[in-house]
Amino acid sequence: MIYADNAATTKLDIDALEAMKPFLLESYGNASQPYSFSRSSKMALKTARETIASYIGAEPNEIYFTSGGTESDNWAIKMGAGKSGALITSAIEHHAVLQSCAALERAGRKIVYLPVTSEGLVLPESLRKECDNHVKLVSVMTANNEVGSIQEIKKLAAISHENGAIFHTDAVQAVGHIPLHVKELGVDMLSASAHKFNGPKGIGFLYIRKGVNIFPYMEGGGQESGYRAGTENIAAIIGMSVALKNNYEKIKEITDYLYGLEKIVIKGLTNAKLNFIRNGSQNRIPGNVSLSFYRADGEVLLHRMDLKGICISTGAACDSVKNQISHVLRAMMIPEDYARGTVRISLSKNNSEQDAFDIATALISILKKE
Ligand code: PLP
Repeated sequence: MIYADNAATTKLDIDALEAMKPFLLESYGNASQPYSFSRSSKMALKTARETIASYIGAEPNEIYFTSGGTESDNWAIKMGAGKSGALITSAIEHHAVLQSCAALERAGRKIVYLPVTSEGLVLPESLRKECDNHVKLVSVMTANNEVGSIQEIKKLAAISHENGAIFHTDAVQAVGHIPLHVKELGVDMLSASAHKFNGPKGIGFLYIRKGVNIFPYMEGGGQESGYRAGTENIAAIIGMSVALKNNYEKIKEITDYLYGLEKIVIKGLTNAKLNFIRNGSQNRIPGNVSLSFYRADGEVLLHRMDLKGICISTGAACDSVKNQISHVLRAMMIPEDYARGTVRISLSKNNSEQDAFDIATALISILKKE
C-alpha cells in the first residue's frame, strides 16, 4: 500500500506514540487534581504548551488546547465575531470555517466571501476593497487543503487591523509543514490540528493573542484558564508537541525531500505527455500535488488507484463523497474539462522516491487506457 493522502491525515510519529504511552498507562492522573499523582500530568501539560508555543512564536498562555481544527475554527469564528458587525472570509476555506460563517449568516450577520485567483490566492487588494470599520472579523486560511496555495497572511492581517478587525487564520494545513511565527505574521488567532502533522487525531489548538477579547466556546470546568472546558487529553497533547517538534526540527530537510518527490511525479507525467494542469500557486505546502487531467474523471481515477493499492484523494474528503467539482476548484475557475479530472496527491516524509515513481507510473497506465 502506498499512502499519499497526507493532507487528509498522517501516520502517527513513533516518538510521539512512545511519549504518549506513560500518560495513558502510568501517569494518567487528572491534571486538575491537587494530589502528587497528578503532578506529572500537570508538568507535562505545561511543557507541551511551552514547546508548541515556542515553535510558532507564541507565549505559552496564548495556546488553548482543543479537539482539533474543526473546533478551533468554530471557536475562533463564532466566538470571535462578537455580537455585531460583518465578517470576511474567502471562497476557498475549509467547511469548518464556511459552515461556522453560514451559522452566523443564518443569525443575521453579513458575511463577505472574497474571490481567489486561478492559483487559489486571495489578493490583498480584494480584502482592502471589502474591509472597513464595520468588519469585526476576517478569516483567511494560511494554506488551502486541496491545492496547497499559501496566502499572504502578513499583508491580509495588516489590512484587517488597519480597519479595526480581528484576523483569524485556519493554519491546519500549514502548522508543522512550513515555518510560522504568529507575531511576525501579526495574526490574532490561529487554528491547528495535530493529525495533519503526524500527531494523534482529536487534538489541536487555537492560538489566541493576549488581549484579544473572545468568549469561551466550551463551557464547564475551568480548564485552559476558563476558556476551554473539558479534562485535558494529556497523552494526545504530549503526542502533538513531540510530533510538532520532530517536524520543525527537520523542516528544511523534509521540505527539500518533498520537493524532490513532487518532481519525480511531475516529471513522470510530463514525459508521458499527459494533458494536465497542476493546481495551486508557486508557493505551496510541500508535498501537495493537485492535478487536473483533461477529460478524466477524478472519482474513477481515485478508485483505479485504490485497486493498485495507492491512496490519493479527489480533493477535500467531503467533496469526494458528493462527486462534485469542489468549491475550491470552482472559485479558482478551473475549466470544467479539467476540474472533473482532479486528484490530490499529498506526499509526506514517510513516502519514498519509489512511492513517487510508482504513483506516476500508476496514473500513466490508468490514463493512457482511458
Ligand atoms: N481546516 C483545514 C484547512 C483542514 O484541512 C481540516 C481537515 O481536513 C480542518 C480544518 C479540520 O480539522 P480536524 O480534522 O482536526 O477537525
